[in-house]
Amino acid sequence: MLSLHEYIALKERLIQGEINTDEAKSRLWENFKDGKRAWHTKDWKERRRKFLKDKCEICDSKETLTVQHLSHPKKFIEYTKEITRSLTKEFIHINSEIDKAQLEEHVKNNYTYEPIQLCPNCLNRKPNIRTRKSPKFLCTKCEHEFNEPSYLSVEELISIFYRNPDAIEVRDKCFTSKDKWHNQHNLNNIKYWHQRSLVQKSQLEYIEKKALLLYLVDTIKYLSFEDAITACKICASRYDLHQMDLCPECKKHYKGIKYDTCISCLPESRKNEVLEKLSFNKEMMDIHRNFGID
Ligand SMILES: [Zn+2]
Ligand SMILES: [Zn+2]
Ligand SMILES: [Zn+2]
Ligand SMILES: [Zn+2]
Repeated sequence: MLSLHEYIALKERLIQGEINTDEAKSRLWENFKDGKRAWHTKDWKERRRKFLKDKCEICDSKETLTVQHLSHPKKFIEYTKEITRSLTKEFIHINSEIDKAQLEEHVKNNYTYEPIQLCPNCLNRKPNIRTRKSPKFLCTKCEHEFNEPSYLSVEELISIFYRNPDAIEVRDKCFTSKDKWHNQHNLNNIKYWHQRSLVQKSQLEYIEKKALLLYLVDTIKYLSFEDAITACKICASRYDLHQMDLCPECKKHYKGIKYDTCISCLPESRKNEVLEKLSFNKEMMDIHRNFGID
């Protein structure tokens, strides 16, 4: 794990173009794998000692004080997803149409089609399937009985979609992606993911660099205790510490955002009630453990 200084230096070098995104990423990940946690570094221990107040900022206890972060860096992949999502939104806004032939080709290459069964007489959707009677199908609308249902071809379906993207015929998720995810999509989903992959391919470098910078900014904020408070072990296990803010009454203690004031500013009668409600937030503790620091 890199030290705070090294994170800051890496970020600067990336901004100045002294290293490219791939180099910065490999610097980060190789050091991440070495198993050395931030809290083992001398640098961390020193800053932690300076940061810690002499009492819990939630309850004033002086027992076993720890650094509690009110926000955490996300996984790198989450930043790339967010950026890609918002770039795709812009792209669609400017450039909403894709060529029909191109979409058709994309669908045929990347999806298997499981058509919806139709009545051959009236084209009503989804006839009843009878297991014991023959003929096998019964149309609930025109009462036609038949063995061979009709289908719309991919081309017909796409034509309908281009005339009216909200048409009832094109809403079903009757396409399965051929990749390992086997996603169930309708034409609207397919169009979106196709546009998104166009954006991703054409702006890959930009997306990766921006994501890495955001990741570094949040990690630096985290490692420098910018958005952190001193809390005792009891408060740390009781609260969801990602949702704390300063008490507006005393401006001294922290409180859960769903409460109006901190515990010491509450009337005596409500104190116990609130203390009972506060429950251990496992997810938060897991995040700490995964990151290896608290
Ligand atoms: Zn406390
Ligand atoms: Zn935390
Ligand atoms: Zn029918
Ligand atoms: Zn207060």
